[in-house]
Amino acid sequence: MGHLENVALRTVKRKIRSLSGNKIPVIAGHKLLYTCNLRCKVCPFWRRIDPPLLSLDEETKMMDSLASIGVSFMGFEGGEPFLRKELLEILKLSHERFFTSLVSNGWMLANRIKEVREYVDYVFVSIDGVGEVHDRLRGVEGSFERAREGIAVASKEVPLSLSSTITSENTDQVERIVDFAREMDVSVSFQVVYDYSTAEKMFPSSAKLRGALFKLLDLKKSGAPIVESKEYFESVINSWYNGKGWKCKPWLVINIDPEGRVVLPCYALSEYTGSKRVWEIDLPRVWNSVDWEQYETCNKCALSCYLEPSLFSWDNFSMVKERIIDNMLSYIVE
Ligand code: SF4
Ligand code: SF4
Repeated sequence: MGHLENVALRTVKRKIRSLSGNKIPVIAGHKLLYTCNLRCKVCPFWRRIDPPLLSLDEETKMMDSLASIGVSFMGFEGGEPFLRKELLEILKLSHERFFTSLVSNGWMLANRIKEVREYVDYVFVSIDGVGEVHDRLRGVEGSFERAREGIAVASKEVPLSLSSTITSENTDQVERIVDFAREMDVSVSFQVVYDYSTAEKMFPSSAKLRGALFKLLDLKKSGAPIVESKEYFESVINSWYNGKGWKCKPWLVINIDPEGRVVLPCYALSEYTGSKRVWEIDLPRVWNSVDWEQYETCNKCALSCYLEPSLFSWDNFSMVKERIIDNMLSYIVE
């Protein structure tokens, strides 16, 4: 629970500092490596060669820099995080400072979860279809069964959600994926694919995507275990089909690449390539020297890690209940 006190204290400090008009990130994402054992069609990362990765000392400096400007949530991803040799030590360092989550393709989860469970607050497992559809999109036969096995074991150890990317090849699968989440007794997060320049282009047709978004919105309204708020789906529909955009606040999320460099302005526009190592710069000055206003009307991606925090409002009771009150209750009840 110690790290939760740190998180709460930092939230108060961040609120005070933001009163001066400074932009302060709340959530950090850190790619631990690019290497992956799967070959997902939409993914540009496994196609990259890993640069020299950070030492534990550098990981510590990076986390300290982020904590000092007010970051409270840290999400690790890759590549496949379980392929990073020092994963356990890195998670321990993070858990002392942040609410810590991990995204995994699930292949190694069943065997490795017990080793890390003490140091992760949340795990996301990528699932893009049920059975053969998942295997085809992930490029490796048997990946669905391995992920299913991992989910069954890990969901008994840590809070866990599926993470699903909507592409041209799975718009008809969204309801089956929700059913699979129910079957596994976990929730599921959805987002729409972003076409990176160095991966296969799999953005769905306008009509099929619209159908999938409305289906998910209906399922959400009827109580399906979907992580995103109904406002997430409404915002994407309103922006991409009705010409009414959402206000993106990419400054709420800071991403750090495997070399410890800050990704600016956001995950999608920079295609996750950083510029300067985070602990070697005056981070608040660099962060606040970006002209963030020009991105407010961007609406090019629907990455939920950006869109959801951008939508959050203390004036929206259902949002405050779902994101804050219910989450706090789950901690108290645990
Ligand atoms: S599992 Fe993740 S990192 Fe690996 S290839 Fe697929 S999307 Fe890329
Ligand atoms: S909407 Fe645009 S600025 Fe916002 S996160 Fe997506 S690509 Fe970046």
